Amino acid sequence: MHKGTIDVRTENIFPIIKKFLYSDHEIFLRELVSNAVDATQKLKTLSSAGEVKGELGDLTIQVEVNKKKKTITIRDRGIGMTREEVEKYINQIAFSSAEEFVEQFKNKSQAEANAIIGHFGLGFYSSFMVAEKVELFTLSYREGAEPVKWECDGSPEYTITDAKKKERGTEVVLHIDKENEDFLEEYKIRELLNKYCKFLPVPIQFGTKKEEEPIEGETDKDGNPKTRTVEKPDIINNTHPLWKKSPSEATEEEYKKFYNELYPLSFDEPLFNIHLNVDYPFNLTGILYFPRVKHNYELQRNKIQLYSNQVFVTDSVEGIVPDFLTLLHGVIDSPDIPLNVSRSFLQSDQNVKKISGHITKKVADKLEELFKKDREAFEQKWNDIRLFIQYGMISEPKFYERAEKFLLLKNVDGKHFTIEEYKNHIEGQQKDKDKTLIILYASNTDDQYSYIEAARERGYDVLVMDGILDAHFINTLEQKMSNTRFVRVDSNTVDKLIEKKEDSLPSKLNEEQKQELKTAFETVVDKTRFEVVFEPMSESDAPVVITQNEFMRRYKDMSAVGGGPMMGLGDLPEHYNLVVNENHPLVAGLSAKEEAERNRQINYLYDLARLSKNLLRGKELNAFIKASMDNLG
Ligand code: ADP
Repeated sequence: MHKGTIDVRTENIFPIIKKFLYSDHEIFLRELVSNAVDATQKLKTLSSAGEVKGELGDLTIQVEVNKKKKTITIRDRGIGMTREEVEKYINQIAFSSAEEFVEQFKNKSQAEANAIIGHFGLGFYSSFMVAEKVELFTLSYREGAEPVKWECDGSPEYTITDAKKKERGTEVVLHIDKENEDFLEEYKIRELLNKYCKFLPVPIQFGTKKEEEPIEGETDKDGNPKTRTVEKPDIINNTHPLWKKSPSEATEEEYKKFYNELYPLSFDEPLFNIHLNVDYPFNLTGILYFPRVKHNYELQRNKIQLYSNQVFVTDSVEGIVPDFLTLLHGVIDSPDIPLNVSRSFLQSDQNVKKISGHITKKVADKLEELFKKDREAFEQKWNDIRLFIQYGMISEPKFYERAEKFLLLKNVDGKHFTIEEYKNHIEGQQKDKDKTLIILYASNTDDQYSYIEAARERGYDVLVMDGILDAHFINTLEQKMSNTRFVRVDSNTVDKLIEKKEDSLPSKLNEEQKQELKTAFETVVDKTRFEVVFEPMSESDAPVVITQNEFMRRYKDMSAVGGGPMMGLGDLPEHYNLVVNENHPLVAGLSAKEEAERNRQINYLYDLARLSKNLLRGKELNAFIKASMDNLG
């Protein structure tokens, strides 16, 4: 027997490891299973290089829990270690990183420690987060190697003795301490294996499962084969996840199946996917799915899983990939993603930055390809993907440059245009006197119906901008498109939406009549919400129209969506203009009416104007309906 002391510059590292890594105890399992996978992969490599002779046998890694003995065992049939290798890799190398970690954090607060904790892969030594004693039995693949046992109880002393192990490989036995006994629950380990090891490249067995198997040659009275229940090893992982396949070999069916494997609880089918497969200038594979975006899209966020060589790293990619990409689902796998690092470290890592830039580009490529290949299909999906594309264009200038080509604008007739196409479509009609291109839009085609109709009668085109991001998106478009303004159809009277010349129509009212009528209107309308304005419009336009200043309304919309400068000021009251058409026969006729009748008519016009803008509601609407019915009688 050989007794040694793990370099004792630090008295006892394990209490410190436990304390600082408190929140992440569970990663011990990932670390140990990853080591077992590495050892197995190395063996395969040596074998195919001819350095290991003979059959390798079953290479399945086994994980076992023994609740009675309070142990967790991880067993592999990989390369194993000789006595010298245990000394070198377990005592010296593995220990030195653990020790360096302790040195750095000894005198720091938990908060400071957490901030940089991730720089250290504690690997094998993370087992002491949950174990009071660790035993390691190992037999190297090398010819004539002797099996050895290494044991350590958390103090800096360890022992190495001869062992009896007959099979090649390594077995690590953790004696779980009191505080961590919940790891002895089978369901807990299964859950962790499912989280961290689901796609590891070597089969991992945890317990057994019962399966029905047909008995050969035996049938029941209906002629169906008889079955018997057999117990089979339960392999918890898929060693060949779809993202490792070459994109040219994967089928649509497989992509759908894999989506279900990733999100067993989701009933949705993704719209389409992007298979990432890069080996230069860095290594990156993965599959990203476009989900159907729902209204509560926040719930669908952060479903991308990050892997490093099929080892799960995290499923919270916020801050690691651009925000808009977190709306996508799927997996990203790159050996260049560091395994044991903290979130803040991942965020500032240069490789991770390059990777996320690359993904942004790939996503744009795919969208452009879909757009070019089958425009009709792209238009059909537009409703489901526009939020994603707009979000990307608002938040990532690089993405804007690409998406500009395939972003679609939809008009009230349901026709789709690219930005360029739309500019050409309206150029002849919709430039104002300063040569600014005016894009008219509606945010609700029902509420703004009469305004849309009025604009169309003038020969204008109207876009539908009714998405949850459209208020922000319009601002982005205005910043990027030169000499272009967006104007909502109800922001002004129809002739002023696009002001073409300075001079206005002559009025049928003289100054005195105007003044008199204005006073009459003002006594009727709610002055806290409406400002009465008189304007000479065309006879065929409505007698009274309600408009709402574009700039003010947008300001309010923006702060409602969040983050605007008016946040915190509370809900500002809506403010409107009540525009009276001086040239409408009904208005011109009002002057001649006696007061009571005139006020009754003004009231009616006021109600009608509010009705057509969906502003007449509740009590007032009820009163209006009653009065209208009385008129019938
Ligand atoms: P890392 O895996 O990051 O190198 P670890 O502390 O986890 O660090 O392990 C240290 C070393 O111990 C490994 O590099 C490997 O050489 C050796 N080792 C650990 N586990 C095994 C195992 N199951 N089989 C063979 N060698 C192992």
